[in-house]
Amino acid sequence: MLDLVDITKVYRGGHRAVGGISLGLRPGVLGLLGPNGAGKSTLMRIAATAARPTTGRVLLDGADVTARPRPLRRTLGYLPQDFGFYPNLTAREFLSYLAAAKGVGARAARVRIGELLDLVGLGAAADRRLGGFSGGMLRRVGIAQALVNDPRVIILDEPTAGLDPEERARLHALLSDLAAERAVVLSTHIVPDVEDIAAEVAVVAAGRLVLRGRPADLVADM
Ligand code: ADP
Ligand code: ADP
Repeated sequence: MLDLVDITKVYRGGHRAVGGISLGLRPGVLGLLGPNGAGKSTLMRIAATAARPTTGRVLLDGADVTARPRPLRRTLGYLPQDFGFYPNLTAREFLSYLAAAKGVGARAARVRIGELLDLVGLGAAADRRLGGFSGGMLRRVGIAQALVNDPRVIILDEPTAGLDPEERARLHALLSDLAAERAVVLSTHIVPDVEDIAAEVAVVAAGRLVLRGRPADLVADM
């Protein structure tokens, strides 16, 4: 589905955040693990075409989208680490605005947004302003926005941060369902996230892919 081919990223000032990573995303959940500063967010921004790599290519179904991200963005859901909210909008208004921006028709969006808000447990808060939401609630709005265009490729940067155990279990169930037909990649530093739902794990350290395998390999390795 989505292939990252020999990606490097050197930031202004010369810091090499990603030093040559190739990674193929297929249906299923891939957990991206690694310490702070390993390069996970940078890699996910590049996979989501929210940032350009210094060298390397991003392929969608074999077609190079590195410099022409539009086809990918239509079929992509992305939760960045620093997701921005509009405090004066309600959850429903905010999702409607983003759905329109992604080209989802108004009628389809209305139905989809109602379903998504229920799925992430915000049905009762749908018409409240985001400014009054807790961190965990905002995170769930962020997850809902990533799914609003029914994407085939879903990239979530630390989606479980700030969620309580019940919310986390609910997210795991949702992602497991989606992953039957979609490529889902999530970065986390919470090993149980990976053990619960990831069919595969990739471990990144100092900008390099140091392990790709099954969650069981990871536990055996630690
Ligand atoms: P992770 O998500 O694994 O914590 P990041 O991709 O956020 O890692 O960061 C990798 C490295 O790149 C870190 O050393 C970080 O300080 C640096 N970095 C991240 N974003 C930028 C940026 N916009 N400009 C310069 N350096 C950055
Ligand atoms: P936690 O500390 O439990 O991880 P946070 O309260 O920091 O959760 O919030 C989670 C996410 O919501 C973060 O991405 C943060 O930037 C965002 N966020 C938190 N409060 C606000 C706010 N008042 N307005 C906009 N975004 C917010």
